[in-house]
Amino acid sequence: MSYSVAVRALCEFTAKVGDLDLRFTPSPSAQEGIIGHRTVASRRSARYQNEVALEGEYQQLKVRGRADGYDPDTNRLEEVKTYRGDLDAQPANHRQLHWAQVKVYGWLMCQKLGLTEIDLALVYFDIVGEGETLLNQRFQAAELEGFFNQQCALFLGWARKEMQHREARNTAAQTLVFPHADFRPGQRALAESVYKAVSTGRCLMAQAPTGIGKTIGTIFPLLKALAPQQLDKVFFLTAKTPGRKLALDAAHVLHASSDLPLRVLELVARDKACEHLDKACHGDSCPLAKGFYDRLPAARIAASKVRLLDQRNLRDVALAHGVCPYYLSQEMARWADLVVADYNYYFDFGAMLFGLAQLNQWRAAVLVDEAHNLVERARSMYSASLDQYSLKTLRDTAPEPLKKPLQRLNREWNALHKDQIAAYQAYATRPDKLLQALSLCTSALGDYFNEHPEALSGDLQAFYFEALQFAKVAELFNEHFIFDISKRQLGGKRSSSTLCLRNVVPAEFIRPRLTAARSSVLFSATLSPRHYYADLLGLPTDTAWVDVESPFRAEQLHVRIVNEISTRFVHRQASLAPIVELIARQFAQQPGNYLAFFSSFDYLQQVAQLLAETHPRILLWQQSRGMAEAERQGFLDQFTEHSQGIGFAVLGGAFGEGIDLPGARLIGAFIATLGLPQLNPVNEQIKLRMAAIFGAGYDYTYLYPGIQKVVQAAGRVIRSEHDRGVVMLMDDRFGEARVQHLLPRWWVVD
Ligand code: SF4
Repeated sequence: MSYSVAVRALCEFTAKVGDLDLRFTPSPSAQEGIIGHRTVASRRSARYQNEVALEGEYQQLKVRGRADGYDPDTNRLEEVKTYRGDLDAQPANHRQLHWAQVKVYGWLMCQKLGLTEIDLALVYFDIVGEGETLLNQRFQAAELEGFFNQQCALFLGWARKEMQHREARNTAAQTLVFPHADFRPGQRALAESVYKAVSTGRCLMAQAPTGIGKTIGTIFPLLKALAPQQLDKVFFLTAKTPGRKLALDAAHVLHASSDLPLRVLELVARDKACEHLDKACHGDSCPLAKGFYDRLPAARIAASKVRLLDQRNLRDVALAHGVCPYYLSQEMARWADLVVADYNYYFDFGAMLFGLAQLNQWRAAVLVDEAHNLVERARSMYSASLDQYSLKTLRDTAPEPLKKPLQRLNREWNALHKDQIAAYQAYATRPDKLLQALSLCTSALGDYFNEHPEALSGDLQAFYFEALQFAKVAELFNEHFIFDISKRQLGGKRSSSTLCLRNVVPAEFIRPRLTAARSSVLFSATLSPRHYYADLLGLPTDTAWVDVESPFRAEQLHVRIVNEISTRFVHRQASLAPIVELIARQFAQQPGNYLAFFSSFDYLQQVAQLLAETHPRILLWQQSRGMAEAERQGFLDQFTEHSQGIGFAVLGGAFGEGIDLPGARLIGAFIATLGLPQLNPVNEQIKLRMAAIFGAGYDYTYLYPGIQKVVQAAGRVIRSEHDRGVVMLMDDRFGEARVQHLLPRWWVVD
């Protein structure tokens, strides 16, 4: 058996020493990096070779990678690094790592061409001045071979253990039995579909009702596929924290019921894992960054022996070894078998898991939990906005060298919106002149931060990051984006505006991520209509689809459409009394716990108030704006087996999905809204774009996202085969065929 490793991964393992140093130095963007590499290559001779693929072996190790360039005329192999700012400020351990990489490439090249010696060069290309600093040194092949062997030997001990681990993992997974007595109804069909998808290397969309155990039902088949499909990793990606918890619980159950040596890792955001929020991530500031790489090998070995590396266990290991928990978790992402993380670790611009998977050529399987959330989440990952107000604050306080570029940006900004009469307007093209001024600003800010690292904080830093994100999104701008300006009058002739680059179709960014995996499975209780999600997320045409039969029977849920009520904005006042009457009547007939959903806090408030006045004996619980996690839990804790009351909540909010109130804790839901997104100029623009691209403006903008929320909220009522309950859909539009078509098939609507 052999172990394949990329040159970069090998050197990062063996040649990183000293402090963790993520002192922010404004580094070139990916685009600048590409241009930098191209510029260097264009300055070389005609026979210069770019991106030279190289590989070599050392005992069981296969080492592979691509050297940036080789000039056969001068026999020089180059590793190009782009930078901005002061090269002398680069930490020594970064330079050492670069040398290690180029020396490994150097040996592989000598071996490939049968050379006895070679020139190796680190080429540092300054993005701003376009100058090159070339560190050149001649090496004998034998010397490089010695270095290569030494690096490989350092890694081999670990690699052998990894191979043993993988062997043991795969063997145990082959005989793994389902951790529960039996599959729940529907769960087996789901598991089989997942297994088939990964076996055939396809994407799968799985619509499966809540309550059938989707988490274990999707993880289990992928574990069974580890050996036959030679999977390296499984990524379980979630939209929200509760989903992550369910996946970790499932892993715990698997561990408890078997000897499966599956390493499970939870990734959490930096601000949740950081032990020193008041410090910066470098050795001079944070004790857990000091000597991080020196202590990492021992921490890594200890962490690799813990099967469930959730936030708490990982923290224990990290602190026992004096290293940062957050960066230890990033390291362990390389060595874990099942990684449980937020969507953004795989789908965002520079997503870590996706980047690692590409670099290491992992064969990964991806599970996307509650996948209906991915449309909105992906849109926001690839959107950006800039507010002129923050620019104004900066212009007043900015250091002298920045004043000019900031002023120029402001002039371009004013010119951009000067003729705009409406408060909101969308534009077909991106604001190129403003982007040029913005680019000058970010360069000036980057240079300034290099010279004055202490200035990198507060408003200046915040604006800098926003500007970089805006520029990054602008590079991607096409018909799948909307550029719009929201303008405000400030008095007199003065005005200010917010610029927004809105991604409305994230398909082109999500699709490559989905297809890079051996299989990606998107699952949720609400993925209808299928074409809506497939179009917006860019699912390949051969994506498999399974609509898992609900284990629930129609008689368990009484679904009633209340035609006499209209919740349209103009009819809102008139709707209050009938809604209150219906709720009260239902409550009197069948006392118990209910949730009532509305389109807004205002509407909720009005109905709750009237109900309280007219039926003071009914207990009410109300969701309020911006509830903290503990308050949300407090709200849910009021729904007990023996309580009786009505919880008022906003549809699409914290209680509209992802909450579990089984049995008598919830016996019914009143839904006084179609959940349609607000009618506003932004949504109207999205509608136009959806109409132009998919020929379905209203459906893609309003109807489908709205009804999806309704079905999610109604799904809170029946959580098991023993539950019984009622759902009242209060609006005449629920009677329309196109709406009913989107409701779950197992419902029988009254
Ligand atoms: S503990 Fe916090 S400040 Fe220190 S290295 Fe980790 S993330 Fe950075």
